[in-house]
Amino acid sequence: MSIENQVFEVQKKHKIQMKNTSALYRLEKIKKLKSLILEKKDQINEALALDFHKPHLETELAEIMPVLGMLNLLEKELIDWMSDERVASPLLFKGTKNWIRKEGKGNSLIISPWNYPFQLTVYPVVTAFAAGNTSIVKPSEFTPHTNKIIIEIFNEVFEQKEVCILEGEVELSTKLLKMPFDHVFFTGSTSVGKIVMKAASEHLASVVLELGGKSPVIVDKGCDIEKAAKKIMWGKILNAGQTCVAPDYVLVHSDDKEKFINASKKFVEEVYQNELESSDDYSHIITQRHADRLKDLIEDAKKLGAKVEFGDADFENQRVVAPTILSEINSDMKIMQDEIFGPVLPLITYDSIDSAIEYVNQYDNALAMYIFSNSKPVMNKIMDNTFNGGVTVNDVLIGVSHPTLPFGGAGKSGIGKYHGKHGFDSFSNLRSVTRRDMDLGTSYFYPPYTQTKYKIVNSLLKKFSSLF
Ligand code: NAD
Repeated sequence: MSIENQVFEVQKKHKIQMKNTSALYRLEKIKKLKSLILEKKDQINEALALDFHKPHLETELAEIMPVLGMLNLLEKELIDWMSDERVASPLLFKGTKNWIRKEGKGNSLIISPWNYPFQLTVYPVVTAFAAGNTSIVKPSEFTPHTNKIIIEIFNEVFEQKEVCILEGEVELSTKLLKMPFDHVFFTGSTSVGKIVMKAASEHLASVVLELGGKSPVIVDKGCDIEKAAKKIMWGKILNAGQTCVAPDYVLVHSDDKEKFINASKKFVEEVYQNELESSDDYSHIITQRHADRLKDLIEDAKKLGAKVEFGDADFENQRVVAPTILSEINSDMKIMQDEIFGPVLPLITYDSIDSAIEYVNQYDNALAMYIFSNSKPVMNKIMDNTFNGGVTVNDVLIGVSHPTLPFGGAGKSGIGKYHGKHGFDSFSNLRSVTRRDMDLGTSYFYPPYTQTKYKIVNSLLKKFSSLF
C-alpha cells in the first residue's frame, strides 16, 4: 500500500476519536505549537529565505504573525466555539430541547501553494485540528526548506493519525484527490481549483477553494496621490507581488497619471537605491519558469504598445523582476488577461468613476479590491456596483490579516471563507439535535387524516407566524 493510502487509512480509523477530542486536548497542542513556532522563528526565517529569498521581516509579519494570531484566538475562544449552541424551542416544539453540536467534518485534505508557504499551510491545519478534523497536507513542491521546518514542528506536536504532511508534486495531489476525504481545503490558482472541485465532487467532499484573480485598485480623483502610490507599490513589492491579494492593476484618473507615476518611482528608488538585485529586502521570483512568465508578460505588453514607466525585468540574477509600472495598456495584452502574480503594475487611466467601475466589471470577480477615496458616496458606489471577496479602503493588503474578518473569494476567486471563527465553522459540521423530553400529543396528527385534524392544522396555518 502506498504511503498516502496508509496514512489515509490510519486517519480514517481515527476520525471518530478525533471529532470527540476535548477542548483541553486540542488547546494543549495549540499551546505547544505556538511555543515551538516562537522557538524556531529563526529557522523558519532561514527556510523561507532559502526557498525564495523572502526577507525575514516579511516572514515574521506575513507568515508567522497571522498564524500566531489564530493560535492566540483559539486559546481565547476555542472552548466557546466548540460548545453546544442552544437554540430556542418555539411553540410547536414545546417539550423538546434543540441545540447545535460543533463536530469536525472528518478526514480533511489540505493542499497549499508556495507564495506564503508557512502561513498557508499551518493556518488551515491549525483550523482543521481545532475543529476536530484529521488532515493530510500536501504543501507546494517549490518550497522544500519551509516544508522541512513545518514537518519538524508538526512531528513534535501531532501524531500521524491527526496531521500528516506528504510532500510531492502534482502526481501526489492527483492521487490524494482520488481518495474519499470528507473535506478538501485548497489554496492555489483558479485553474487548479477547478480540477480540485471536480475531483472532490466524485466523493461529494465539501470544498473550500481559496483562489486568485485580478484584484483592482481604483484611485479616486482628489485623494492623496502620493500616499496612495506608496501604499500600492508596497503591495507590489511585498513578496515581489507574489501575493494572492496583491493589487493587480491600478485605475488612476487621467489628471493624476503623472503624479502617480512619479510618486511610485520615487518610493521604489528611495527604498532600493538602485541596489535591488542585491537587496535582502526583496523576494526573488519563486522559480526561473515563473520569472520567465513575468518577463514574457512585459515583453508582450511592450510589443503591443505599452510604455515602461520604470522598472523592467532585465537583471543578471534571472529571478529578480523589478517593481515596474506599465502604461498605455490595452486588453489584448496578455498581462490584462490573467492574474499577474508579480511586481508589475499596469496603469490604466479613466475619466469617470462609472467608466472605472465598467472596466473592473469586465473581469471575473476578484479576490480583493482596493479603493483610495475621501468620498463615502464614491466608496459606496464602487462597492454597490462590483462583486469580489473583500475590500480595503485607503490601504492595500491589510484586510486579509484581520483576525476575525472572513477571508476568501467570490465566484471565480474562491468558494467559502476562513480565518478566525469563519474557518472553524467551515471545517465544522454544524450538527443539529432535537431531543423530545415531553410528548405533548403531536402523534395526534398521524394518519388517518380526519376532517377535525384538517380543521386544526388549517387554523394553525393561519396563526403560523405567531407560533414561531
Ligand atoms: P497552484 O494552483 O499551481 O498550486 C497549488 C497547489 O496545488 C500546489 O501544492 C500544487 O502542487 C498543487 N497542484 C498544482 N497543479 C495541480 C493539479 N493539476 N492537480 C492537483 N494539484 C495541483 O498555485 P501556486 O502557483 O502554488 O500559487 C499561486 C496561486 O495561488 C495564485 O493564483 C494565487 O492567487 C493563489 N493563491 C490564493 C490564495 C488565497 O488565499 N486565496 C493564497 C495564495 C495563493
